[in-house]
Amino acid sequence: MLIYANPAEQFKSYQSEIEDAILSVIRGNSYILGKEVSAFEKEFASYIGTNSAIGVANGTNAIEIALRALDIGIGDEVITVSHTAVATVTAIEATGASAVLVDVEPDFYTLDPAQLNEVITNKTKAVIVVHLYGQPADMDNILSFCNKNKLFLLEDASQAHGAKYKGFKLGTLGVIGCFSCYPTKNLGALGDAGVVTTNSPVLSLKISKLREYGWNNGVSEYPGMNSRLDEIQAAVLRVKLKYLDSDNTKRRKLADLYTQGLSDLPIQVPIVREGSKSVFHLYVIQVENRQGLLSHLKEKGILAGIHYPTPVHLQPAYKGRIKTATDMSVTENASAKILSLPLYPELSRKNVEKIISALRDFF
Ligand SMILES: *Cc1c(COP(=O)(O)O)cnc(C)c1O
Repeated sequence: MLIYANPAEQFKSYQSEIEDAILSVIRGNSYILGKEVSAFEKEFASYIGTNSAIGVANGTNAIEIALRALDIGIGDEVITVSHTAVATVTAIEATGASAVLVDVEPDFYTLDPAQLNEVITNKTKAVIVVHLYGQPADMDNILSFCNKNKLFLLEDASQAHGAKYKGFKLGTLGVIGCFSCYPTKNLGALGDAGVVTTNSPVLSLKISKLREYGWNNGVSEYPGMNSRLDEIQAAVLRVKLKYLDSDNTKRRKLADLYTQGLSDLPIQVPIVREGSKSVFHLYVIQVENRQGLLSHLKEKGILAGIHYPTPVHLQPAYKGRIKTATDMSVTENASAKILSLPLYPELSRKNVEKIISALRDFF
């Protein structure tokens, strides 16, 4: 079966190196927040281009801790998109703040800056952009709105490790960058992991305290949480970080192959924003008869995904109580038509060609 993501295949690529790294951790005597975590934090910060990076337990916590570091909580509003992994919204609500959801741009599936003006109130404290599917949001326009209105801009770069906007890596453009290293992400652990990036030494220190009970030398300076990163996961991430650029290049080449093979079909293929470098976390197309195509592909041994089937504002946990912009039509239309084709660095060109012919058969 060809699945839309395949972390086991990636493990095989670096198996002996990863196994050595894990063995060395378990034979040591430090399992949480030790030298592997410190080394990973230095290497990730240097890779992204920020002064610091702080390892945390997962991507949802990365966002929650980032907001808490900015003193965002009860009574505050945070603007983000409805077309995202629900985790972005989970994290906002975990701080006690309210999420306010806007629509995305039709070509890029990222926050539509034109809607910010409609939803801003005197309670708004921050905007979280989500660089979805490996592609940057319209940072120039969103940053200028945030600067003009004195809002913090945070980046959810959980699907965009290594992607660039006008030469800058994502996670460096906002006041804080948040990354998930869930196993299927471009930089994925063999379990849960996350990272927070920032250029501010003050925020960096506060974030590193918040992830461990708000501790300052064993005494809680802030009400914190437990969101520590394990040594084993940090050791795995250190191995994989070395190959992230070459793995992202493989993803981009396979994405090009798909686009060349599918452009003449009645399919909306992904468009890359001018001046940016996508890392193709997912290769997402839009089709009219999605259910038919999904079944056809399944018969041919191809398991496509849907990211995501229901916009956050229409999910039972949020429907009817979460504030949104008036027009959410791009999100609502896309969620009925999107489909993620298999894409991961280990996928062979031959298999991509096989998937392209399966799609061509259908149309
Ligand atoms: C994966 C993901 C998250 C959540 O990360 P976890 O590590 O699963 O908590 C948040 N936002 C986006 C955009 C994601 O893709």
